[in-house]
Amino acid sequence: MLTILDHLPDGLLAAEPADLARLLGGPTLIHLPGRRERPLFVSTLLHGNEDTSWRAVRELLQRYERRELPRALSLFIGNVAAAAAGVRRLEGQLDYNRAWPGGEATDGPECAVMRAVVEEMRARHPFASIDIHNNTGLNPHYACVNRLDAPFLRLATLFSRTVIYFLRPRGVQSLAFAELCPAVTVECGKAGNPQNTEHALEFVEACLHLAEFPRHPVSPHDIDLYHTVATVGIRDGIDFGFDAEARDLSLPGDLDRHNFQDLAPGTLWGRQDPSRPLTLKVSDEAGNDVTARYFHLDTGGTISLRVPSTPSMLTLDLRVIRQDCLCYLMERLPCAP
Ligand SMILES: [Zn+2]
Repeated sequence: MLTILDHLPDGLLAAEPADLARLLGGPTLIHLPGRRERPLFVSTLLHGNEDTSWRAVRELLQRYERRELPRALSLFIGNVAAAAAGVRRLEGQLDYNRAWPGGEATDGPECAVMRAVVEEMRARHPFASIDIHNNTGLNPHYACVNRLDAPFLRLATLFSRTVIYFLRPRGVQSLAFAELCPAVTVECGKAGNPQNTEHALEFVEACLHLAEFPRHPVSPHDIDLYHTVATVGIRDGIDFGFDAEARDLSLPGDLDRHNFQDLAPGTLWGRQDPSRPLTLKVSDEAGNDVTARYFHLDTGGTISLRVPSTPSMLTLDLRVIRQDCLCYLMERLPCAP
């Protein structure tokens, strides 16, 4: 199911995201040589409609078309079928960023592909791993890590001073690669924006030029570190919308302006029928239902935040909310020396 190549197929550097399925046939790992031997692993298009990853890597490879790369590059091009359809994933597919070893899903062709990528890369002793994404709400550019070791935070702060540490969801690429090398997920704002592509490109190129990661810790002045403590979803079967006469749950139409804001208890979160149980569902890092800890439903049907929290990934995209979640809730972490 996984195609492994040691060269760029003809036409690849002219390909749009929607062309990749025709050119590659499926998920593909391409090993390219460079001056330093241990490869930088870069993962693209795990979500088919997040085009910044492919555009950044394509432009990087165009720059080096007639020059040696400063370091070997192993490039994974993920969900090309979803990219051809312009969606995050196709119905019936597992999410390509939930199917990596260590996740809840272990069966299915997607899991077999991700397992093969990890084993192939384990043998090549990667220098670092970068997984590039877009999101759909109003978010700053930020990096995510799954370990708080100095090299992971160094890698993250090369992209942004805003860094999130998380352990859930499991089955994501950066968690699987954290076993092999410093690994980071970078969230580059909305798809289709050339400035976001430029930022991702600069970051990948800077990593290709790195000889090694400094071992000493990141200075607390250089990082805003958050810890994801909960995931907010909407219970199954709930009809919801923004500023809408949705049957069960109406959310404010500007909810995504709260991303990375430190919110106080009492912040308005939505309205619903007060005679029904809360239509939101909050899970902690262990997967426990902790909805009552975070949200309050009053007798008038107003849903408000119960404790101080900082959301991320709040989106107004109903499909993304249904396929993934409404947002994550975070706490600030002191940067431990
Ligand atoms: Zn994504």
